[in-house]
Amino acid sequence: MSTDLGFLCSSCGQEHEGLPFTYGTVAPAYWNEGMEGGSGNVLGDEQCVIADEHFFLRARLTLPVLDSENDFEWGVWVSLSKSNFARATELWASTERVAEPPYFGWLSTELPTYEPTTLNLKTKVHSQPVGIRPTVELEPTDHPLAVEQRTGITLARVQDIAELLLHPRH
Ligand SMILES: [Zn+2]
Repeated sequence: MSTDLGFLCSSCGQEHEGLPFTYGTVAPAYWNEGMEGGSGNVLGDEQCVIADEHFFLRARLTLPVLDSENDFEWGVWVSLSKSNFARATELWASTERVAEPPYFGWLSTELPTYEPTTLNLKTKVHSQPVGIRPTVELEPTDHPLAVEQRTGITLARVQDIAELLLHPRH
């Protein structure tokens, strides 16, 4: 999703069309292309397993945007215990999954712009109705990402993120 807001980029001085409110990654940070086809390795659109030992779900980490009607959303992966992953898989197509208690999850995506790393932050993973990716609630720590989820961000920050991702610094 992106809004129809264009913005004047402070990095390149050009007007960019549309300010993205969503970014995603196609795999957990621990996945690499060499794992494709390996024993016990599966990368799907919504789930990932590595070495039959590490279990991941794709999820959404939203941040309120104080001066917008829309939330900002980081697409992320979270690592679940084997039993919770099995449970989520069992209930994948069940309407009853909305009644699940949150699952504990380790954040398994390294999001840009955050210091220290967002890898292995503790989260609660909330199941959603069938067809909707689960949401991630960060442990309420002082980590900048957790603070942003708690207190919200502004459109200026959304634009900063867009500029950084459009023009990565080397
Ligand atoms: Zn630019």
